Amino acid sequence: MQLSELIDSLKLDPLAYASEWKKNHSGKVVGYMCSYAPEEIIWAFGALPFRLMGTKNAIERADAHLQAYCCSLVRGSLEDALTGRLDFLDGMVFPHTCDSIQRLSDIWRINVKNCFHADIVLPVKLDSDSASDYLIATFKKLITDLENWLGRSVTGKILGEAVDLYNEIRSHLNALYMLRQAHPGVIAGSDFHAIVQASMWMDREAFCKILSGIVRCLKEQTAAGSFQGKRIVLSGGVCNVPDIYSILETAGAAVVGEDVCTGDRFFQGNIPMQGDMVENIARRYSDRIVCPAKHHGLFSRGHHLIQKVKETRADGVLFLFLKFCDPHGFDYPYIKEMLDQEGIPSMLYEIEDRNLSEGQFKTRCEAFIEML
Ligand code: SF4
Ligand code: SF4
Repeated sequence: MQLSELIDSLKLDPLAYASEWKKNHSGKVVGYMCSYAPEEIIWAFGALPFRLMGTKNAIERADAHLQAYCCSLVRGSLEDALTGRLDFLDGMVFPHTCDSIQRLSDIWRINVKNCFHADIVLPVKLDSDSASDYLIATFKKLITDLENWLGRSVTGKILGEAVDLYNEIRSHLNALYMLRQAHPGVIAGSDFHAIVQASMWMDREAFCKILSGIVRCLKEQTAAGSFQGKRIVLSGGVCNVPDIYSILETAGAAVVGEDVCTGDRFFQGNIPMQGDMVENIARRYSDRIVCPAKHHGLFSRGHHLIQKVKETRADGVLFLFLKFCDPHGFDYPYIKEMLDQEGIPSMLYEIEDRNLSEGQFKTRCEAFIEML
């Protein structure tokens, strides 16, 4: 298949895809919030991990359960569940991260009837031996809960196969990010976004094959001419607005790196294949760079972002937060100060929901890029 065909094969409606997958595979679909959910474990049980990303629809029912000052990811996901658009889900997994996700779990349990509901109570402070032990115990409990629900167990071999597949996906995603970093413009930002999004809802074996084809085609493709525009690193939580990339491109910039939980935080770090698989999985989640809902040293996120800017030779950082996201809001002042001290320009933009206010964002981006 040609590159464009491969990319187009990923541009599907995730909800319709998951319903169809369930019918064709007689399998279970397990929804999850947040990149701290150990997808490998869900996949090892033969279920399709499906990341929730908020809704494209108006919020009507969720506001009866959640304050209007919850982020649109949480409100939108609940809206889709209450209106039946997520009826294909057989279960839900809620990592214990920000307050909004924790409270959403309680509301979901009472108001949405899935067969399976798991809270994964992860430690908040991840840089200690006891946190590591606790995380391993938490993941073992998830495995036991899934075994009790599905009436079957997973062996170390099956878990290893799932880890192997996820390692391959992560390696290809990493290669894709490296290609974009070296040749901004080699792939349109919106296509790039579609690829990364599909890694969170598509059948992972099918996705891995398509992704490896995309990476192969891009490597073979004559490198695009040298990029003259401004290089941007995106930083924030969930990025689910493909228009952001095209607006930046039209304004003469390109995203060359991402510090977001739907970007490199999601696929960072491969899992060793030797030793105890649950311990290895847990180690990846405790060692990777934290999001602001977790703790790994006082300034680790700031140092990580500065490192990313240097590695990608970025001209500036665009902070992209969902409105009312407290964890990112609380971390922003110290990270911004660290960037200022390094002379790295940045701009903060808050998105209300998936329907970006295009004109306003465009004007802000143009001004920022001109300033760079
Ligand atoms: S920012 Fe952190 S808590 Fe929020 S969705 Fe991403 S990984 Fe989860
Ligand atoms: S965007 Fe912020 S508030 Fe919303 S789920 Fe993620 S971390 Fe929590």
